[in-house]
Amino acid sequence: AKATGKDKFSFFSKDLKLAMRKRVEMEVKLRTALDNNSLAIFFQPKYDLNLNKVVGAESLVRLIDDDGSIVSPDEFIPLSEETGLIHRLGKQVLVKSCEFIAKCVEANEPFKIAVNVSAQQIANPSFAKEVGEVILSTGIDPGLLELEVTESALMADFDQTRNVLLALSSLGLSLALDDFGTGYSSLSYLRQFPLNVLKIDRSFIKDMDTEPQALDIVTAIVRLGNCLNMVLVAEGLETELQFHSLRQLGCEYGQGYYMCKPISEDEFTTRFLNQKTM
Ligand code: C2E
Ligand code: CA
Ligand code: CA
Ligand code: CA
Repeated sequence: AKATGKDKFSFFSKDLKLAMRKRVEMEVKLRTALDNNSLAIFFQPKYDLNLNKVVGAESLVRLIDDDGSIVSPDEFIPLSEETGLIHRLGKQVLVKSCEFIAKCVEANEPFKIAVNVSAQQIANPSFAKEVGEVILSTGIDPGLLELEVTESALMADFDQTRNVLLALSSLGLSLALDDFGTGYSSLSYLRQFPLNVLKIDRSFIKDMDTEPQALDIVTAIVRLGNCLNMVLVAEGLETELQFHSLRQLGCEYGQGYYMCKPISEDEFTTRFLNQKTM
């Protein structure tokens, strides 16, 4: 029994060492990417479900590894939050996203671009001022910018959070509540914060074809959003049935692999910005 215990311990510690080394390596990669301003932004098109037409996109950060492989944000966003690097990351993503908005407008496609924002960014009292500066320096119409926050970002100090969201809102951009229905949902958030958009979490969309309960929840969220005059966006549509059901329910917008995966800026440009002949 003793030997087993020792084996387990050494196995675990080897595992732990590997995990720690990976973490340090990832932090180095992230810092290098930030220093070189070389993070990539992928864009996932957002569709008007009634018109089956692209009206915007969500901006999703990617880290390109030395060998050219793409690192998912799940592997470095939590790390960037723990190390405080999220502020630099968030700024670079915002600048690149606003530059992309300008590029779309230039190509006669005034797409609305949604940018993910972490709780720590919202907790920064000068965040709204910084966003205002980026809007000015890139010269974009703030109406084309949307910021996505999760419920966890709203659970911090109430007055501070509300002030930041009100300041952002007064810049003329719109605010979306991401992953709605997961986490510590409180319906009072919807009244107390100036939120314009509800994004229905993928977990409900995923099961709505097969589980009546999931369909009921999606139906209820769509009604709730309509009552509160909020724009509804469903995420993670993977089937034709989901597309049609959501449209039928009155959900106006959607994103998902069924329509299009997140794609590089170049691919987005080729597929969606060069459609019009002048
Ligand atoms: P999220 O904001 O909920 O983004 C949606 C995620 O779902 C994306 O993963 C997207 O690629 C994926 N997705 C979209 N459609 C489908 C579908 O039909 N099926 C499935 N299975 N997945 C779909 P991604 O790009 O890996 O991003 C993961 C998370 O990382 C995001 O979740 C967001 O929380 C975070 N993130 C990404 N970019 C940023 C950023 O610039 N800043 C911050 N703070 N967080 C970011
Ligand atoms: Ca999001
Ligand atoms: Ca989401
Ligand atoms: Ca998510």
